[in-house]
Amino acid sequence: AKKALIIGAGIAGIATAIRLALKGYRVEVFEANCYPGGKLSILEMDEFRFDAGPSLFTMPQYVDELFKLAGKNPEDYFKYQKLDTVCRYFYEDGTQLTAYADANKFANEISKATGEPVEAVKKHQANSSNIYNITNHVFLERSLHNIKTYLSRDALQSVFKFAQIDAFRTMHKANDASFKSDYLVQFYDRYATYNGSNPYTAPATLNVIPHLEQHYGAYFPDDGMYSIITSLVKLAESLWVNFYYQSPVDEIVLKNDKAEGIKVNDKLITGDLVVSNMDVWFTYSKLLKAHPRLHPKKTLNQERSSSALIFYWGIRKQFKELDLHNVFFSTDYKAEFDHIWKKKSIFHDPTVYLNISSKYKPDDAPEGCENWFVMINVPANTGQDWDSMIIEARFNILRKLTRILGEHVSDLILCESILDPWGIESKTSSYQGSLYGTSSNSKFAAFLRHPNKSPKISNLYFCGGSVHPGGGIPLCLLSAKIVSDLVEAKS
Ligand code: FAD
Repeated sequence: AKKALIIGAGIAGIATAIRLALKGYRVEVFEANCYPGGKLSILEMDEFRFDAGPSLFTMPQYVDELFKLAGKNPEDYFKYQKLDTVCRYFYEDGTQLTAYADANKFANEISKATGEPVEAVKKHQANSSNIYNITNHVFLERSLHNIKTYLSRDALQSVFKFAQIDAFRTMHKANDASFKSDYLVQFYDRYATYNGSNPYTAPATLNVIPHLEQHYGAYFPDDGMYSIITSLVKLAESLWVNFYYQSPVDEIVLKNDKAEGIKVNDKLITGDLVVSNMDVWFTYSKLLKAHPRLHPKKTLNQERSSSALIFYWGIRKQFKELDLHNVFFSTDYKAEFDHIWKKKSIFHDPTVYLNISSKYKPDDAPEGCENWFVMINVPANTGQDWDSMIIEARFNILRKLTRILGEHVSDLILCESILDPWGIESKTSSYQGSLYGTSSNSKFAAFLRHPNKSPKISNLYFCGGSVHPGGGIPLCLLSAKIVSDLVEAKS
């Protein structure tokens, strides 16, 4: 059988391994860390367990699809439930908003909390759904770098409807024009952060994101987010995929601009094709550093998505008013994004996202306690003084939570761990610690992401959040599908 070598056991690397194994390839995955999952990892501290990276699970059908392709019942490996309450939102003036999965219930809740007419909310929901229907097949599920994509019927239809995807004004402008209520404008603007972008510059096309959450729903895996990884690794191993941990790849070895294999611990391992799940920036700058003429410089110099600062706190109390996902909004969203994107710093009143998996998985925290994953959006790492920024941000976050919850949160912290952009970069080789590869702040971003197949090096493919179609679990899983379609098209 032909042999495929995969660099990195992030979710996209694992999904690609499964797809290629099902195509009859002998697949070997080389992972630098001693565990699989990359950004999707786990943290255990005292008696608390945390999902260290992603916490919001959408589009679970893309995970199920992998089990089904292998002829297995997904439920035998991986169980999850749909959330009735997607997220709770808190504003400084005491206004609260609960996002329900049920669209009508949610529109009524919005109208009750903010005074916005239900029709305005429904119109926005319909617009999101329309953008999704136009863009989905063309921008997300296929290669943008393959002429066939543009010749399909879907693509041609999308071209005629291009004006409807709202690419020529910013997301904020579109939301501001849709709603009278500033609460709602802020609520919808926040979706830009789902791929690490800035609503004040990103195109209104990103208003597609709430559709994914509100129409397709938000989910929680019964055994926590990390079970997405453990169940997929189990599936891959059942298909005879070999995983090698603590095996950082040092080089992609080329012969006549063709990938001959990879170097791990000075040993050459040959294969018929190589797939890099390593951040595309480091793939070129480290693994292909001997071949600068093959580097796509323009692609690599694009602006990176934002990063995150996370505090993992074991809390010795349970809060009835909190749910699995909670957001505490900044009083000045524009200033918050100006700090992240222009000043490359952190605003003194940041929007705080609080995830508590023990709400759904009680054994993640001891009795009477909760595991708090407290995250703010921060700029990508360009050499800021993180130590002092973290101290200040921690103080401001605690003050904000204490103000809104009416409890001295700092007195409740039993244990703490911190992850910053520098830590994200060093743990997963993600350039500048960005969460989602390149940002979507430009209307051309979708076309500028690196393709899933190298244009210059035959037999070299790319998957994961730093390449097409972008970051986040669902898109990473789609990148694996596109790679496997491209491999098939060639062989
Ligand atoms: P990565 O997870 O980036 O993994 C790449 C792997 O390659 C790593 O394991 C790394 O060690 C390995 N590697 C790198 N270089 C080498 C080498 N030379 N040799 C061998 N191995 C190598 N997404 C969502 O959908 N929902 C969320 O709520 C969400 N929240 C997030 C919160 C945080 C804090 C973070 C960090 C990310 C979040 N994301 C979220 C984004 C999501 O986690 C990523 O888009 C996705 O997990 C990236 O997967 P990937 O396949 O690109 O690989």
